[in-house]
Amino acid sequence: MKKYNVGIIGATGMVGQRFAVLLENHPWFNVTTVAASSRSAGKTYKEAAGERWSIEKPMPESMENLVVLSATDDIEKIASSVDFVFCAVDMKKDEIKALEETYAKAECPVVSNNSAHRFTPDVPMIVPELNPYHADVIPFQRKRLGTKRGFIAVKSNCSLQSYVPALFPLSSYGIKDVLVCTYQAISGAGKTFETWPEMVDNVIPFIGGEEEKSEKEPLKLWGEIKDGVIVPASSPNFTAQCIRVPVTNGHLGAVFVRFENKPSKEEMLKVWKEFKGYPQEQKLPSAPVQFLNYFEEDNMPQTKLHRDLEGGMAVSIGRLREDNQYDYKFVCLSHNTLRGAAGGAVLLAEQLCAQGYID
Ligand code: NAP
Repeated sequence: MKKYNVGIIGATGMVGQRFAVLLENHPWFNVTTVAASSRSAGKTYKEAAGERWSIEKPMPESMENLVVLSATDDIEKIASSVDFVFCAVDMKKDEIKALEETYAKAECPVVSNNSAHRFTPDVPMIVPELNPYHADVIPFQRKRLGTKRGFIAVKSNCSLQSYVPALFPLSSYGIKDVLVCTYQAISGAGKTFETWPEMVDNVIPFIGGEEEKSEKEPLKLWGEIKDGVIVPASSPNFTAQCIRVPVTNGHLGAVFVRFENKPSKEEMLKVWKEFKGYPQEQKLPSAPVQFLNYFEEDNMPQTKLHRDLEGGMAVSIGRLREDNQYDYKFVCLSHNTLRGAAGGAVLLAEQLCAQGYID
């Protein structure tokens, strides 16, 4: 596999820092460019992000002296010097939409963490183990944009990264209704306990826009490509409550599910144990060996103990049991800034390279 030169747009932010750490020593990707707002542009990466560094691992030494470019003013320069970019910026939705399209039109593929394009019909939203075939919509998007190389691909929201992977492989049983409550870490808001002291010893029962994303995005993942766009599925029927809890990293979901053809508990456990997706089959560098991991113990999985399973790229499941209103209930967990953000995007980029969409 050739080595790709990669840019991180939003490199100084919390997700951008995760990209920096994950891409240090990556076998295919080499970070040559970092970009952020005009506030950071012109400084070295260390000057711009050093004091805000919030990841447990230090800033990669090889990146400390990269000069931060302006994500909005240096687009041509960035697009012409990298093979593709990762994008995770905190801007208004319409500004992000326009920014990502400008990169794509400059023939620079964009692998995005942002929500802005998740419902653009010809932009694939991919969890590589579940719907890698949605990348087939990229030629249609290129036609609309008038590009040869450039396109946008996005990952889904971090909240659903625990429960959708557990449900998706059970689709053949006809999933009808899903009720989910998520217990979400403060890093999902780009915060730490230092920057959000109100969260210590506290629970906040509201995360702006999160419940809508948690109910609506899964339907695009279950969707089908028709006439050059992804048409979202009309089922399962999701309802969600999303709650902010005082943990640093890791989103946990409590799920209730009803099927058309109720499987046995043993069948569900077998499906989870045997499930493998494109990343496992292709042995992509960031793929967890075992994507779905079931824990038999009543008090597991736990956020602090299991969020880092397989480098934070695996999903942990537990407490599967029958319910007196739905068919079953269970809990599930994933790391929100690894699998749910930067790690999920790195895996998606690996998929797009392996499929030949990024050359
Ligand atoms: P963050 O820590 O606030 O970082 C935001 C980044 O955007 C910084 O690099 C910042 O640069 C840059 N930026 C802000 N305004 C800009 C502008 N006008 N022009 C160019 N760059 C600008 O945010 P984050 O938590 O990393 O989140 C970034 C994105 O990822 C958001 O869309 C978020 O919804 C999404 N996301 C986050 C998570 C998570 O778990 N945190 C998960 C999934 C998705 P400066 O440093 O120069 O200001």
